[in-house]
Amino acid sequence: MIKGNAGELKKKVIPVEENLFTMPSMTEGETRLIGSKCNFCGAVFFPKRAICGKCYRDGMEEVTLSRTGKVTTWTVIRMKSQGYKGEMPYVMGEVELPEGVVVRTQFRGIDPDNPAIKIGDSVEVMLEKIYEDNEGNDVVCYQFKPV
Ligand SMILES: [Zn+2]
Repeated sequence: MIKGNAGELKKKVIPVEENLFTMPSMTEGETRLIGSKCNFCGAVFFPKRAICGKCYRDGMEEVTLSRTGKVTTWTVIRMKSQGYKGEMPYVMGEVELPEGVVVRTQFRGIDPDNPAIKIGDSVEVMLEKIYEDNEGNDVVCYQFKPV
């Protein structure tokens, strides 16, 4: 364990799952979702996969996806699902990226009680702390916010 100046244990920022998105350092770099592109038919998938879901061939290349996309559907979630550790209520939906891939996501920066969001809005990917693990580390996941 690394000790900080204040003598407190230094927190780590860890991804909720490996290989979903790039982890920039806190001061530089940008978060991007990691997908895969088929070398045969060009179809793009997120999360990344080993075999193409369109032509079923084995020849996928890892690609980082565009940071912005358009909202294709959204809803407000008021019922806590089992295992969910984040804030309630929240806004959830889908975003289509220019690569043609649709990403299911939680939205940030939108008030669930007065949601100013509509289909076709531009949104941008970001990282957000979703909970603290047992060691006090910040567990982060991708979310999208209005541009
Ligand atoms: Zn394919």
